[in-house]
Amino acid sequence: MRSLDEFAGEKLASLDRASLRRTPTVTARAGIWAERDGRRLLSFSCNDYLNLSQHPKIIAAAIEATQRYGIGAGASRLVTGNHPLYTELEERLARLKGTEAACVFGSGYLANTGIIPALAGPDDLIVLDELSHACIHAGAKLSGAEVHLYRHADTAHAGTILAKHRAAKKRALIATDGVFSMDGDLAPLGELSDIAKRFDAWLLSDDAHGLGVLGGGRGSAFARGGAQAPYEVPLQMGTLSKAVGAYGGYLCASRAVIDFMRTRARTFIYSTGLPPPVVAAAIAALDVIETEPAYAAEPLRKARLFTRALNLPEAQSAIVPVIVGETEAALSASELLREEGFLVVAIRPPTVPAGTARLRFAFTAQHPDSDIDRLAGIVRQRVTRH
Ligand SMILES: *Cc1c(COP(=O)(O)O)cnc(C)c1O
Repeated sequence: MRSLDEFAGEKLASLDRASLRRTPTVTARAGIWAERDGRRLLSFSCNDYLNLSQHPKIIAAAIEATQRYGIGAGASRLVTGNHPLYTELEERLARLKGTEAACVFGSGYLANTGIIPALAGPDDLIVLDELSHACIHAGAKLSGAEVHLYRHADTAHAGTILAKHRAAKKRALIATDGVFSMDGDLAPLGELSDIAKRFDAWLLSDDAHGLGVLGGGRGSAFARGGAQAPYEVPLQMGTLSKAVGAYGGYLCASRAVIDFMRTRARTFIYSTGLPPPVVAAAIAALDVIETEPAYAAEPLRKARLFTRALNLPEAQSAIVPVIVGETEAALSASELLREEGFLVVAIRPPTVPAGTARLRFAFTAQHPDSDIDRLAGIVRQRVTRH
């Protein structure tokens, strides 16, 4: 169809004019290294925070599951795709998060676009942190509920919205990232939990970047640490594709909520189960996270080496942004680091707001401290220039 190709061509041309066209680059990863265009680079652009995606024990678990159960699940979980490994994974997740039950979805994106519309509909109110991940916004939109955004981490603003709109609505949901994916800061879960209780709203936290990294590996609701009780978050969502190094999404919640998801979340019902090797890998990864808390603490320690060296506010997670401003400046800073042997992908609109294009550094357990020093030195001298 000519009109179709013209449409796509014009859209691409306008993206090119703004340096906003995006294309996947072939990348072969090996541990902390990434090979691109024949060049081996030390990668700070990978969410494999514990380097578990290539851990020998986890690979072995995946191979064993493949030999036993094959690759594909063959059907959705409510038909015949609910292979035996799922039960173990869900029990392990619930135990780690201290909830009654857990439900595994095909991915984090599928989790949020299933969970949110199952809980909220046209008579309801959804209140979101404006910087919530794209799949939270997508889930909210799919639900048909009235959606309001509060300014990033501004709980007073969230409270104002609820005070104004809650009474007219049947149910209310507050959703936020636990660790913000492009800024690395933490949601004010304690205050949000108080507000949620005050307005009878249900709090969902997306812990994609917290699981395995914060709170002894248990995630951002446990980030206070020590003897302090975890924050009360009745809907603890997350992904198995980042620190867990595998694939899939999950929700940890009460037994009633989980049973309800299994019968009403459309992305759970109408999508094929995860491949058995992926589920086996996730279980093996949770073993590492549960038994090696000192290892799980490494990404944050590494991120803090970097923020200290650059005099940035102390890292709160494994993610540290260095905001550069314009898209072109972020792209050229990324290119400069590439020449020095580092892979640090530039993040630009629409992933982040216009004018806040940035380098996003993701620290992993196995990054050598000496390389972090060298990287910080280059960033200080040639990117931030102070
Ligand atoms: C990556 C991410 C997701 C999506 O998870 P996938 O398993 O990759 O689909 C959801 N929420 C946040 C905050 C993320 O960073």
